Amino acid sequence: MKTLHVLPDRDAPQVSQQEIMTRAEHYSARNYHPLQVVLARAEDVWVWDSDGRRYLDCLSAYSAVNQGHRHPRIIQALKEQADRLTLTSRAFHNDRMGGFLERLCTMAEMDRALPMNTGAEAVETAIKTARKWGYKVKGVAQDQAEIIVCRNNFHGRTTTIVGFSSEEQYRDGFGPFTPGFKAIDFGDIDQLEAAITPNTVAFLVEPVQGEGSILVPPQGYFNEVRRVCREHNVLYITDEIQTGLGRTGKLFCYQHDSDAKPDMLIVGKALGGGVYPVSAVISSEAILGVFQPGDHGSTFGGNPLGAAVADAALQVIEDEELVERAAESGEYVMERLHQLPSDSIAEIRGRGLLIGIELKPEAGPARHYCEALLDRGLLCKETHERVVRLAPPLTIRRPQLDFMLEQIEVVFT
Ligand SMILES: *Cc1c(COP(=O)(O)O)cnc(C)c1O
Repeated sequence: MKTLHVLPDRDAPQVSQQEIMTRAEHYSARNYHPLQVVLARAEDVWVWDSDGRRYLDCLSAYSAVNQGHRHPRIIQALKEQADRLTLTSRAFHNDRMGGFLERLCTMAEMDRALPMNTGAEAVETAIKTARKWGYKVKGVAQDQAEIIVCRNNFHGRTTTIVGFSSEEQYRDGFGPFTPGFKAIDFGDIDQLEAAITPNTVAFLVEPVQGEGSILVPPQGYFNEVRRVCREHNVLYITDEIQTGLGRTGKLFCYQHDSDAKPDMLIVGKALGGGVYPVSAVISSEAILGVFQPGDHGSTFGGNPLGAAVADAALQVIEDEELVERAAESGEYVMERLHQLPSDSIAEIRGRGLLIGIELKPEAGPARHYCEALLDRGLLCKETHERVVRLAPPLTIRRPQLDFMLEQIEVVFT
């Protein structure tokens, strides 16, 4: 059973984890199947359950907590802003959005950004931008715009987005779907070139397919994507909601290739520093310039509380050199994982601190490994049935990486 790191907790509640879970399961829709643990507080790479047991977070809320839980500077920005101004709507200017977008555009080396809240909303915004650009700039005939996507993608859960998912469960029961999307295989440049027609306005792609079980494309693939999209006047859009902001050992994952800068970059998750949902589409004047007042919007998008948090979240990534640390930590973990004398592992893959351990078919479902790791003080979540994902906060230090690797060694060998 769970015996590791039992700490006295002054806030220890009277209710058992079982009671808390029973209540949640009684009143919530059943659209999730969480591991059997109730988290009650966190600091940096560590989280504690409601009985005071400590775990190392190896999921980081799907990379939304790259800066570590409750980073002091991000929490301070949240508190200070909460005491001044939280929401104005975009009917008025607020004194925080401009500075935040300036920092974001400077870091991304692009002209303009359109702030939203969740990742799926930013993907929807990119789709709308690409279509409008197609009609207003490229000259595609009305309602004929096509967007190419990849099979095995994950871009969020809106009806339009699940409509171009290849995951049957994500689609089942949610049709009819938005037309105008065409799917090709991830990593295959010939299929991309063959799929382009005069009506193609964009290619939407993840630099590493995160939810699709941490699939890394062939080296140089995105240089080719860049070239093909430029040749055919097609917008190249990278969804860096999971891979961006340092996770893969580059600020943006596309930077692993030498000449792969996209036309549009979608960010979210860690942009909110693990405390507040903030997302954005970042692009050029020529592309985001297609929007006129009233074309698109969001009540909470660009709000001063989110802007203050995201500005601090970006500063922490720079000041604490989280990109470099992710690269170093990722290399160390990969090297150690490859030395594991395990009969159950089929493949280890990833970039930086976005790592997938794929199990052999006979080794059983990944969820069992996640449950065993939970008992040893590691919080992990499987992706697909056979891949255990390792994505701790980028602030993780060597002794904590060693703790993580020791537990993995016990469970996998
Ligand atoms: C998580 C994720 C999204 C969706 O973000 P939400 O904030 O959950 O809407 C989109 N794309 C990718 C690559 C993601 O990992």
